[in-house]
This record gives sequence, structure tokens and C-alpha cells, in this order.
Amino acid sequence: MRVSKEIDFGAAHKLLNYAGKCSNLHGHTWTAIFTFEVDVNSLDQSGISVDFSQLKKILEEIVPDHADANMWILSHLASCYGESPSAENIALVLARRAIDIALTVGGALAFYSVRLYESKTSFVEVFFEDVKYN
Ligand SMILES: [Zn+2]
Repeated sequence: MRVSKEIDFGAAHKLLNYAGKCSNLHGHTWTAIFTFEVDVNSLDQSGISVDFSQLKKILEEIVPDHADANMWILSHLASCYGESPSAENIALVLARRAIDIALTVGGALAFYSVRLYESKTSFVEVFFEDVKYN
């Protein structure tokens, strides 16, 4: 069984090594939908696997609040890793962080995927097996 939680955040980015208008700083309201696998046999007495409000708190550690999001995207990708902060690279960072966070919840959650919408019609999706985790 899978459970998902959607988190929205506003942030600017600009693509590196790109010869188009997206090389200029611009913003999006990003939507990240995190999906975790849960054991159908380990539902609690209320019949739930993980409280959505707890999941929200966990995911807010992955996606910083709106005020920090710009700094986070630009410093994490562009400055730290020299990577272009494309939707693909942002989704990979979110996936790696979600894997780490899921491990801290004591095995109740296993990261399955993150789907990151840059706009209503454009998204990338990263699955566990896409992440080179080392
Ligand atoms: Zn963009």
C-alpha cells in the first residue's frame, strides 16, 4: 500500500549551461508529491499507517518553509554541487532527503517516489531505484 502527501513551496531558480529564457532567474510554485510504501499488515488500531499530520511534519524537514526555499535550492544545487537547479536535480535532492528521513521513522515508511511539478502541466518523477544512494 502507498500513502502520499503533497507539499507546495515557492522558489526561484535559473538553469545553468542553458541557452534559453530559463537561464534567467524566475520563480515557480512547486508541488512535490511524496509517496511512501507502507505495510498493509502494520496498520494501527485506528486503521492508519502513518498520521498525515505527522507525515506533513516530516516532509517539512525535507522541503524548507517558503522563506528558506530559494536559498535552499540555489545553495544546495548550484553552490554546493555545481549542479543546475533543474526540476530533475531538485527532485533528486528531495528523493535523497526523503530516503534519509524515512529511515529515521523506524521502518514504518519506505520511500517510493517523489513527483515534482514545476507547473500544472510539467513534472518529473524520481523513484527509489533512480537514486544512486551511497
Ligand atoms: Zn523554471
